[in-house]
Amino acid sequence: MRNTVDVLGVPVDNVTMQGALEKLKTFLSENKNRAVYTPNAEIMMAAQRDPSLKHVLKNADLLVADGAGVVLASKVLKPKLPERVAGFDLVKNSFSIFASQKVKYYLFGGKPGIAEEAAANIMKDYPGIEIVGVRDGYFSKDQENKIIHDINASGADILLVALGAPKQEKWIHEHKDLLKVKVCIGVGGSLDVFAGRVKRAPRFFQKNGLEWLYRLIKEPWRFKRMLDLPRFILLAYAVKLKGNR
Ligand code: UDP
Repeated sequence: MRNTVDVLGVPVDNVTMQGALEKLKTFLSENKNRAVYTPNAEIMMAAQRDPSLKHVLKNADLLVADGAGVVLASKVLKPKLPERVAGFDLVKNSFSIFASQKVKYYLFGGKPGIAEEAAANIMKDYPGIEIVGVRDGYFSKDQENKIIHDINASGADILLVALGAPKQEKWIHEHKDLLKVKVCIGVGGSLDVFAGRVKRAPRFFQKNGLEWLYRLIKEPWRFKRMLDLPRFILLAYAVKLKGNR
């Protein structure tokens, strides 16, 4: 049974990083394909406008709060989520834990060459992790059958899908039943970071819930999209004040 917190209509799992990793372990021991998403405030806000995205998030098997904004909104609406579980850290920690168990990963997404670079770095840093396939994230609809066939033929246990949000969440949702993996995780720009092409925010920004500020400085063209973070928090306050919660 999932223990979730309702954050503006989306059930987010009431888990710590440790708890999320335990869930992944359980998923690996079972014979189903599980969808794991790691929404930040931008995606949670996008889901308020896009019912199909909300439906996808509601049908996840594990949904963790990637951004400090999601944890803050839960604090306003109550009960508060225990901590932020960043998607990048979840994947990185899974490499540490699963290396000894020879878990097989498939990396799908990013510009051509990125998944290969990420795979080389991951296998160097986490000996024991097997990357059994890679594929870039730029494709047409008629290539999808071949992509799914390659993923299934690879024997991967975990599929990391890095198509950016909300494309990756919708893609996983749509193809989940055809994919013979045990876990699909939407990982956003994580492969760019594993490939060493993009740097994560320094610890100070991460610890103080300011990763969004670092991102804004580095990628100012995201400004408009990032306005969804304050919008999301304001909406949480508005819902609370209206007495709905
Ligand atoms: N991407 C992709 N296919 C697409 C669009 C995007 O593979 O059709 C990749 C892109 O190369 C990048 C990632 O998806 O590696 C998106 O990263 P971004 O940081 O924009 O995603 P977010 O973390 O905001 O979801």
